[in-house]
Amino acid sequence: MSDEPLGQRTAVYPGSFDPITRGHLEIVERALRLFDQVIVAVGRHPTKKGYFSVSERVDLISASIAHLPRARSANFDGLMVNFCVEQGASAIIRGLRPMGDFETEYQMGMANRDIAPTIETVFLIARPDHQFISSSLIREIAHHGGDFQRYVPEPVFEAMMSRLGSKAGS
Ligand code: ADP
Repeated sequence: MSDEPLGQRTAVYPGSFDPITRGHLEIVERALRLFDQVIVAVGRHPTKKGYFSVSERVDLISASIAHLPRARSANFDGLMVNFCVEQGASAIIRGLRPMGDFETEYQMGMANRDIAPTIETVFLIARPDHQFISSSLIREIAHHGGDFQRYVPEPVFEAMMSRLGSKAGS
């Protein structure tokens, strides 16, 4: 960990968040018990367009964490560890689900540690009833007209319904 003054510990929670789910939100809430400030940061994928644009995702995160004054949303280009350094963050938060997250997360954690040894990766284990929730599963359920409301924060539900409505009307 870097030598941040006590009371100033910042963590970055990076991801695609396309869109943010209740699984992600719970990780933010738990990270805030460990850190003073949590930045939920959307990485820009060089080729993938995504379901929501990066700025829409940042706005949806912002609306979904409005009740958490010590959390904020942002986007970043380039290496995530560079963004962490710019923000004065001492840790990267990642959520861990039992189905396949571990190997990729471990590899990414090792690479980040190699590049920026002072920044720790902190893994928070997904809540059992959130372990199957993923952004892609939610997009899939929504696409097929299933009920996905309980898996996403309200602003995401509204944005997805309005997008599905406008598609149905076009
Ligand atoms: P990425 O494309 O970087 O994996 P995601 O938006 O899918 O981005 O996920 C961001 C982080 O949140 C990852 O660490 C992922 O493992 C974690 N995560 C995703 N869904 C859940 C969930 N339901 N519960 C806990 N953590 C989750």
